[in-house]
Parts: sequence; structure tokens; C-alpha cells
Amino acid sequence: MKIAVIGGGPAGMCAAGKAAELGAEVTLFEKNKLLGMKLGITGKGRCNVTNDCTPDVFIKNMTKNGKFMFSAINSFSSADTMAFFEGLGVPLKTERGNRVFPVSDKSRDIVLALKKYVLDNGAKIINEKVTELVPAETGEQKISAVITEKRRYEFDAVILCTGGVSYPTTGSDGDGLRFSEALGHKIITPTPSLIGLTSDDRCCAEMQGLALKNVAVTVCDTAKKNKTIYEDFGEMLVTHFGVSGPTILSASAHMRPMEKDRYEVHVDLKPALDEVKLDKRIVSDFEKYKNKELANALCDLLPSSMIAPVIARAGLDGTKKINSVTQKERRALLETLKKFTVKISGTRPIAEAIVTSGGVAVSEISPGTMQSKKWDNLYFAGEIIDVDAYTGGFNLQIAYSTGMKAAESAVESLSEVIL
Ligand SMILES: Cc1cc2nc3c(=O)[nH]c(=O)nc-3n(C[C@H](O)[C@H](O)[C@H](O)COP(=O)(O)OP(=O)(O)OC[C@H]3O[C@@H](n4cnc5c(N)ncnc54)[C@H](O)[C@@H]3O)c2cc1C
Repeated sequence: MKIAVIGGGPAGMCAAGKAAELGAEVTLFEKNKLLGMKLGITGKGRCNVTNDCTPDVFIKNMTKNGKFMFSAINSFSSADTMAFFEGLGVPLKTERGNRVFPVSDKSRDIVLALKKYVLDNGAKIINEKVTELVPAETGEQKISAVITEKRRYEFDAVILCTGGVSYPTTGSDGDGLRFSEALGHKIITPTPSLIGLTSDDRCCAEMQGLALKNVAVTVCDTAKKNKTIYEDFGEMLVTHFGVSGPTILSASAHMRPMEKDRYEVHVDLKPALDEVKLDKRIVSDFEKYKNKELANALCDLLPSSMIAPVIARAGLDGTKKINSVTQKERRALLETLKKFTVKISGTRPIAEAIVTSGGVAVSEISPGTMQSKKWDNLYFAGEIIDVDAYTGGFNLQIAYSTGMKAAESAVESLSEVIL
């Protein structure tokens, strides 16, 4: 049972370790000198290993093709992942939002544990770039060999785990998608997910560097009569290009298709105060600063870089004395605080995306086995598949669950052939 695993990220390392553990003769091909380069930068170097949740909650946190993951997540769940890493000697801790990290806060510990899993089970690692998968000449729907930049290797089965196309300097630059397409697989065009959003709104440049904590974010689709497509609460960052931060990254997964000026982000800057309470708060601030100009009276309500943009949005004059601000003007200020709109022009480039949406179409992969429906001995695992999820450890869990599932299925299928 000779199995080739292509790609030494989390999906590939799980697949290689598992297939070897089950008795196959496994070769893991990785084009970088080191395994798990992207894994090493996850969670800002801390690696959000998984999310401590049930399979049902996991599927609810998927942003594309959640149902496809049903079998894989039920056979290797978040609980299994935690037991797996603890078993490999990496103690874990759970933080806000059930996000699981190594106690050491070092993603390197996760990379090394997976590498150990691969090597301890006897899989071989070859640091060569795969350039082609060769179909069998027998007429069977099988892959017979893997060609690298150096030579040709014969195999009984291949598990393709080359990742998506984001952060290409880590090695995930779409090779596997090209191989799959050459083999006749349908590829759903890769688009960025969990990505910063660009805006031509001048206010972003004025407010860049601002971290807005505890704001309510609503995304509306103007092509669908301003339908609300996403709501969240938490942190948002204003940057030189537009907006980013946790709420925005999650929102980006819902803004499909991305079209210029199609989506608007509405920010409630004071979500804890309803309109009546907020008005009272404004009145009390106006009382405190009654002899000042409007622009100098909002310092308790807003961060300084937001004062001028908010006043401009509300159509007010910042030099106006507080004691002459009308009720109508106060109302305009309140409405702007409750709904500060940023028009979205697009996303940052896919190379900067946390996750690639798109990839090998799930309609051509069996969800119970990760086996290609076109090639009998070809399997897929990880981000190469057209599935993706929110931040929180879910994307790495996709890699482990599909990697384990692909390995088990490949070994089982080859065992049947041998018997
Ligand atoms: C900055 C950042 C932070 C992230 N943080 C988190 C987080 O904290 N938690 C989380 O759940 N997810 C996180 N993610 C997402 C997560 O890293 C990916 O979903 C995950 O790495 C996908 O695993 P994979 O094994 O499918 O692919 P990858 O990790 O992309 O691995 C693919 C491997 O295949 C190799 N390869 C490609 N082509 C070839 C070839 N032709 N020959 C040989 N080898 C090849 C590549 O070099 C690479 O090592 C983050 C992503 C980024 C970019």
C-alpha cells in the first residue's frame, strides 16, 4: 500500500501520519524545506488549534458547504483534536469563544507535534515540489505516479493536500488546484475569505489606526434592497485601505459575490445605549461642555480621530457653539452615532486572505471518504476543498478532520484491493 501525500500542512501531516499508523507505506511530499509553514504563522504565532465545540456547532460555524463536513467532523471532532494533541505532549488551554491554543502560546509546538506524528508512524518526508500527477496507462481511472522536479515515483493512491492560494509565500500557491483541473476536476474560482475590506470613503484615511471595541456591525447588500446579510458585535479596525478586525473578517465571508460598492457596513458606535438613553447622554455631555464648540464637546463620546468624520457625516458645523445646536442637529448626531456607514469597494488581495474560499468542487468529492468521484485512488484534504469557516480554530479543524478521513479511506480502499 504505497500512498503519496502531497503537501505538508496540517491536512497533509494528519493524512500522512494516519495512513502510516494504519499500515501504509507513506511518502509526504513538501516543496518547502520545513513542514507547516502556514501553520507556523496561525493565530498570530500562537495557533488557534481548534474550537472546543460539538460537531453541530462546528458545522454552524462553516461559511461554505458545511454539510459536506458532516461525516469528517463526526469521525474526528474538536474533542478528538484536543485529545490528539494532548496525547502528542502538547498541553492546551481554552480561551474566549472556545478558542483552543497550546499552553505555550507557540504554534511551533503544534507543527513539531504533527511532524513527530508523521515520523513516529514511519512515514517518509521528501522535500520536493510535485509538478504532475500521472494517470494510469491501463485505462483505469487511477493515478499511477507522482512527478516531482527531480524524479518520478509510483504509488497506489494519492492524497492531495496542497492548501488554497492565500499567503503564497508559505507554499500554498494553487499547485494542487492546477493538478486537479488538469485531471478534469471542477474548480470553484478561489476568492478571498476572512479578509480586510477596502473602501474609498475618505473617513477611513482620516480614522486609520483606530480600533473600535464593542461596536455592533451590520452588513447590508444594496443589490438586494439593503437586506441585512451579516450582524456581529465586537472589535473593528479602521486601516489605510478601509476596515478590518475580527467582526469585519467574519463579515467578509458573507459578501459574495464581491462587487464594487455593493455592500455597506453600518457601525453602531453605541450599541449599549438605545436612542432614548443615547440622547440623554448627549444632552448631559452638551450641558458639561455648553460653552464649547461642537468639535470640542464630543471628546467623552468618541475617540478623537472620529470626531470630525462623525460631525461631517451628520452634516453639522464643528465650530458651532453647543448652546446654539438645535434639537434637529442633535438628532442628526445621534443617528450618525447609531449608524455610521462605510461603503465597501472590494477586498484586499487574495494573497492576504486568512482562508481561500473556492477550490475543488465538493460535488466531485465523496463526503464520507474524501475520495475523488472521478479518480478511484485520488483523495483530497484541507483547504484545497471548496469548504471554509469563520475564524476561531474551525479552518484548522477542517484540515485535521478531512486529512484523517482521507487517510482512513485510502488505506481501507487499498486493503480491500489487496484482500
Ligand atoms: C495568517 C493566517 C492565520 C491563520 N490562523 C488560523 C488559526 O489560528 N486557526 C485556524 O483554524 N486557521 C487559521 N488559518 C487558516 C489555516 O492556516 C489554513 O486553513 C490551514 O493551514 C489549511 O491547511 P492545509 O493543510 O489544507 O493547507 P496549507 O497549510 O496551506 O498547507 C499546504 C502545503 O502544501 C504544500 N504544497 C503546495 N504545493 C505543493 C507542491 N506542488 N508540492 C509539494 N508541496 C506543495 C505547501 O508548501 C504547504 O506546506 C490562518 C491562516 C493564515 C494565512
